[in-house]
Amino acid sequence: METIVLYPSPGMGHLISMVEFGKFILNHHPFFTVAILTLPPSFNTGSTASYIDRVSATNPSITFHHLPSVSLTLDSFSSMEHHHIRHNRLLLHPAFSIFTKLGIPTYYFFTSGVCCLDSFLYVPTIHRNTTKSFKDMNSLLDIPGLPPIPSSHMPDPILDRSSAEYAYCLDFFLHLPKSAGVIVNSFESLESKSLKAISEGSCNPDGPTPPVFCIGPLLATERGRTGSMDECLKWLDSQPSQSVVFLCFGSLGLLSGKQLKEIAIGLERSEQRFLWVVRSPPSEDKSKRFLPPPEPDLESLLPSGFLDRTKDRGFVVKSWAPQVEVLRHKSVGGFVTHCGWNSVLEALCAGVPMVAWPLYAEQKFNRVVLVEDLKLALRMNESEDGFVTAEEVESRVRELMDSKERESVRKRTKEKEAEAKAAMSEGGTSIVALAKLVESWKLPRLTI
Ligand code: UDP
Repeated sequence: METIVLYPSPGMGHLISMVEFGKFILNHHPFFTVAILTLPPSFNTGSTASYIDRVSATNPSITFHHLPSVSLTLDSFSSMEHHHIRHNRLLLHPAFSIFTKLGIPTYYFFTSGVCCLDSFLYVPTIHRNTTKSFKDMNSLLDIPGLPPIPSSHMPDPILDRSSAEYAYCLDFFLHLPKSAGVIVNSFESLESKSLKAISEGSCNPDGPTPPVFCIGPLLATERGRTGSMDECLKWLDSQPSQSVVFLCFGSLGLLSGKQLKEIAIGLERSEQRFLWVVRSPPSEDKSKRFLPPPEPDLESLLPSGFLDRTKDRGFVVKSWAPQVEVLRHKSVGGFVTHCGWNSVLEALCAGVPMVAWPLYAEQKFNRVVLVEDLKLALRMNESEDGFVTAEEVESRVRELMDSKERESVRKRTKEKEAEAKAAMSEGGTSIVALAKLVESWKLPRLTI
């Protein structure tokens, strides 16, 4: 029996979609086993350990291997995982050169959309044609297959050309086309323009074009933490159909105390029903950035009397909600999201229209594609420093829940929901792409 080794980056969003990918492989091709390499829990976002326990308990063909907190060298990696990797295929980035040296074909698992992959493949071309950083260009980027992207909306780590992150990312972008393939958690009909631009080679005019396998949408199927979280589902049961706007900002989204108060004022003025996941603001201490934030003290974080005044039409969940189940609940009619790719897919698959409020990573980029090109979301407008006023929250939430615009976004979202379902049905594009991917693993191996 062959083992597929998966190596997710830190962060729940990456881990969840890779686990789902592992399950997807096993469901359709049960002759594999899946081994997932994970980084130490301190490097992650809190709920990782219990999540891994749940997955292990219910999926015996998936095993987890925890890597020690040392920098990986060829030697240390080989001795630890040699048994697993010698005869298998791997999916990862930073270890690309290690596995290339070991003669193992390497695939990337891309946890954002094809649109983002498209832009990453094109960055080396932009890099060659200018000496400016994206943050200083102040222009619209013309990237094949994409709507015009404001240069400042490119992903955070590549905004400053002189930063170490930029150098790291550029190296990654240059390696991407040299891989055996890129597996993307998306479906072909959602991102046909970007896919076409990649396959025609216009994103990477000077280099090879990697095969792209759209095998999604893969959504989280494991239950999150239960207990108090289930109360929000019970509360939703008592609300009218499609009446509730859900606000949630991914696994890492933390807002300042001032911003939380502003959202509360906007929600209250909007007079709409809401379900809102509130976390403690980020710690001042940077060393605590990757630790889970403490339980929020709602009384002190939110405006005085807010919880009481809105108790008949609003529900505030502390820290974490079972997002997939919430989005699928019949009472939910809109989603204010940070535009993390998993959240976007989850909303589409539930047919829930979005307001796009990006916070970090490639989310501003995703917003441009979602709002300008796919027209699946309304835009939350922020000031230059990212602050969103109560007035903006109020009008956007009203627009999402109670306007003509809502209907057109909702209609398109419903169309994408149906297309996503078709992609994952027998003979659908994502099932076919997985079969092609598995076929490529059966090609004769290089010998080490
Ligand atoms: N999530 C959740 N409850 C929360 C916050 C997040 O279940 O309160 C899940 C969400 O459903 C999604 C993942 O965490 O599957 C977040 O991934 P995404 O790509 O949207 O954003 P990231 O956290 O990577 O920024």
